[in-house]
Amino acid sequence: MSTPKRFFVDNLTSPETYLEGEEFTHAKTVLRVEEGTEIVLLDGSGKEYSAIVSKIEKHRLLAHITGAIEGDKEPKTEIYLLCGALKGDKTELIVQKACELGVSRIGVFSSEYCSAYMNENKLERLKKVAREAAKQCLRSRAPKIEYFNNLSDALSSAKDYNNKLFACEFLSGSDGDMSQLSGSTAVVVGSEGGFSEAEYALAKQCGFLGISLGKRILRAETAAIAVCALTAFALGELK
Ligand code: SAH
Repeated sequence: MSTPKRFFVDNLTSPETYLEGEEFTHAKTVLRVEEGTEIVLLDGSGKEYSAIVSKIEKHRLLAHITGAIEGDKEPKTEIYLLCGALKGDKTELIVQKACELGVSRIGVFSSEYCSAYMNENKLERLKKVAREAAKQCLRSRAPKIEYFNNLSDALSSAKDYNNKLFACEFLSGSDGDMSQLSGSTAVVVGSEGGFSEAEYALAKQCGFLGISLGKRILRAETAAIAVCALTAFALGELK
């Protein structure tokens, strides 16, 4: 039997709850959920609720909750990815891969050499991508996504993290050691245009350690996915 389909709900009420909006449409028209189907509901708290579809209406379905467990796929240590906004749908790619790799929080920022723009619709789209990725990889929480219209605010948002790393393409060596991490970790990756010297200086002032990812210049999306994987590995999340 296939694993029960998973859906995010905004307001979960027990023992009966409604699934509405996009999640409902997807359940009904794409996944062809029927009355009697067993599903899993996620409210973003980290819990997973098993439920049975008891009634399907035109714009919503009613689910009867039969049990709740604490999701066991969430990372133990918090990873925060800060990435420059990328052109086209590349930021979506990063959000999807970061979610699979166990990132808990994603900050997308604009910076000096960043030429992509962000608006409410794009941010909503990123949140949707995060939810879809979370369901697909069986997480019980989708990474939280925020937008910062400047690098300074993005860097400040990471002030409480144990490790603060800044991937910088023009460094010949690393100040931070990615193989020796413990505790919550924030890691910054630039957009296609990269960073300026002044931005690197600002990051250092904010307590970030520069890291090099080697002699080759990686595309921004490659760098972002690579730092997520390296961080998750160093923190023991990929065992
Ligand atoms: N346009 C820039 C490259 C930007 S690469 C240039 O031509 O120099 C996009 C981002 O990926 C960078 O800002 C950095 O955060 C990361 N990155 C790519 N290659 C890297 C490397 N070798 N070391 C560290 N960071 C790297």
